[in-house]
Amino acid sequence: MSKLDEFLAGDRHDDVALFLTHEYLDSDGKLSRLGEEVEDGYVLVVDGDDGRSAFAAGTGMDPMEFSRTAMEETGHVDRDLGGGECPERDDDGDEDEDGDHRAEFIFAFSEAQNEEVGGLYARGEVVHAYAHCACGANYSDKWVVGEETETGVQPGDSDPAHANE
Ligand SMILES: [Zn+2]
Repeated sequence: MSKLDEFLAGDRHDDVALFLTHEYLDSDGKLSRLGEEVEDGYVLVVDGDDGRSAFAAGTGMDPMEFSRTAMEETGHVDRDLGGGECPERDDDGDEDEDGDHRAEFIFAFSEAQNEEVGGLYARGEVVHAYAHCACGANYSDKWVVGEETETGVQPGDSDPAHANE
């Protein structure tokens, strides 16, 4: 089982996962050697503190500041953290216009199940994911481990599936 698989299974609460496109890594090959290659870039799973510095170094943004901004908008993030669906994208299926809406980087962490908090958190371990689009938009998604298709924003949707429960 890879570190990414373990992270996605909710077994690495002390780590963070970072997705970065190849373009973001071109300037410094160091990060890519630590990561796992996915379709459009690399995903790294690293210790939380290291991950936050790596994120800041790789993107020029403070991860906490970025998460706060991304939290204001919801959008689907791939469950393997390899991409997402920008809420600003054109839904008419025009591929050319959609070309500028690739996720450039994603920052994710997971939380242990917490029955006291209730809601989503009582159901199981939660993965939080924050994405930055090539168009400049930021958006977020979160889902329960083991309920990836029942919680969080589903592909093609803009609101979390668990919001109307
Ligand atoms: Zn976009």
